[in-house]
Amino acid sequence: MDSKRDSKKRRIFRLISITFLCLILMCGCGTFQDFIDAALNESNQYDDYGNRTDSLEPAEASSASSGMSASSASSGSSSPEEPSAQPEMPVAAGLAADGTYPDGIMKVHYIDVGQGDATLVTCEGHAMLIDGGTQEAGAAVRSYIDSLGITKLDYVIATHPDADHIGGLPETLGKYQVGMVMMPDVPSDKYTYKLLYDAVSSKGLVPVRPHVGDNYALGNALVTVTAPADSVYENTNNYSVGLMIQFGDRRFLFIGDAEWPSIQEMMNGTVDLKCDVYKCGHHGSDTSTYDSFLKMLLPEYAVISCGKGNPFGHPHGKVLGYLKSCGVQVFRTDEQGTIVAKTDGTDIIWNVQPSVTWAAGSFENSRE
Ligand SMILES: [Zn+2]
Repeated sequence: MDSKRDSKKRRIFRLISITFLCLILMCGCGTFQDFIDAALNESNQYDDYGNRTDSLEPAEASSASSGMSASSASSGSSSPEEPSAQPEMPVAAGLAADGTYPDGIMKVHYIDVGQGDATLVTCEGHAMLIDGGTQEAGAAVRSYIDSLGITKLDYVIATHPDADHIGGLPETLGKYQVGMVMMPDVPSDKYTYKLLYDAVSSKGLVPVRPHVGDNYALGNALVTVTAPADSVYENTNNYSVGLMIQFGDRRFLFIGDAEWPSIQEMMNGTVDLKCDVYKCGHHGSDTSTYDSFLKMLLPEYAVISCGKGNPFGHPHGKVLGYLKSCGVQVFRTDEQGTIVAKTDGTDIIWNVQPSVTWAAGSFENSRE
């Protein structure tokens, strides 16, 4: 009887043990499944470049959903009144584990727009347009963009209200899908500026204001705002948006038409200004490129965007002298047309040879 009772006890004990084990496994599986689901959801929220893809907002409806990741909270903010939040560093998210870059190429197109500025930066399927030339040059800029098969401009930067920078932008904004427009908070009653504001709002966008130190991702390129500081300036040139664009180890600097007050603030600021390619401020005017500034940038190359025979004396002989004495190789749109720099993050390849004329602009035409 005892052995029978013991056997029955053992069966009951086994049954309870098996049931308990099953319960543990079911709970465990549920937890594991939750983990798998969470992991899948997480991986679905990012594309190959580390940009979030789970936003439901169409690109036109929000400045924050440009398909790029604005890295600081303020970057995606549509309200100019909101203070800048601490920027986060986003670009590392796009780096592969072995430190390589998907697609691995950034191109900077300094488009020949005569006397004015328009630079298109393309990186791994993404595009940023920095200024759009005069209204007259706008068509050439759009043709150039079309020739590259680009239909979406992730970012459009209107550096400051001058017509040689923003005149072509209203029509250009109307033609393409646009993720985000950045323009400085500068009072201007210029007609072209009003047209630009109208074009921005008709896209359903609100201009994003530049804050020094804010970061944006353009593919795997990191775009950092260098200017303007939160100052009040007499000359609207000093409100120019300044950008440092870094891809791999190569850095490209843009300062619009910023002059000494803003340049001094950049030099005293927190953003590292050392660069490989410097786009000369204000079309090579001596009001933007100073010896001390250049010695801080230490560029290998400089690009000057100006019109052939312009009446403003661009580029200034003094600036060319600084560049030459610093051993900087110079490219200029007035002599060479559109200049294209292509980089894999290590090497920079140009579509033309550097200019060797060192020919300064003339003021002659201004007296005619
Ligand atoms: Zn200008």
